[in-house]
Amino acid sequence: MTTIASRLESVRQRIARAEKDSHRQPGSVSLVAVSKHKDTHAIREALVAGQTRFGENYVQEALSKISELQGEPIEWHFIGSIQTNKASTIAQHFAWVHGIDRLVVAERLSAARPKQLEPLNVCIQVNIDTEATKAGVSIEELPQLAAAIAQLPRLHLRGLMAIPQITNDTTKQQFQFGAMRRAQEQLQSQGIALDTLSMGMSADLEVAIAQGATLVRVGRDIFGPR
Ligand SMILES: *Cc1c(COP(=O)(O)O)cnc(C)c1O
Repeated sequence: MTTIASRLESVRQRIARAEKDSHRQPGSVSLVAVSKHKDTHAIREALVAGQTRFGENYVQEALSKISELQGEPIEWHFIGSIQTNKASTIAQHFAWVHGIDRLVVAERLSAARPKQLEPLNVCIQVNIDTEATKAGVSIEELPQLAAAIAQLPRLHLRGLMAIPQITNDTTKQQFQFGAMRRAQEQLQSQGIALDTLSMGMSADLEVAIAQGATLVRVGRDIFGPR
């Protein structure tokens, strides 16, 4: 029988091996378990197995799980696309938001972040294969958006996030994830401190880690098919 605990363990081993293969520090890549469309029983199984970071894509679905699991030591990551009218709810219930690609959304998150909570950790979503998707800011527009977001008082700009198109072409994957790392280095050279590259999912976490991912978001390979 394949349990969530055993699948989680094999994902951890894949991460550890990828860190080693690319001469990265052990433990330098953190794992967000993507629990969209999975119930709180599944989340509890992962929690018991030591997983504390969980990613959700849909606000309504996430809110009911967050309230059911209140009191558990969970760090919630919002990884879905953000509608402006949901920004305030997101700012109240999550520790991280990965998919920011417009200043207006960032401004709303900052304005709505409750005073008693730490600044909201955010990543800017970058569109590195423009033909495949419209989500994310282009590499050209990134420096200006990053500079503006870095000024917002209740946000902590942590880094960049990407969802490249799934492909079996390893060279293409390497190129896309490498472009993210170069974009991050570029921003750093302009004085914007970033410590996070949120990239890599079930199918491509090894390539992402080899190219510098510090946070991978894994759903299927932990929780099974959706
Ligand atoms: C669903 C999702 C994931 C997880 O993808 P898997 O292929 O299930 O590992 C990661 N990131 C985002 C943004 C997602 O929407």
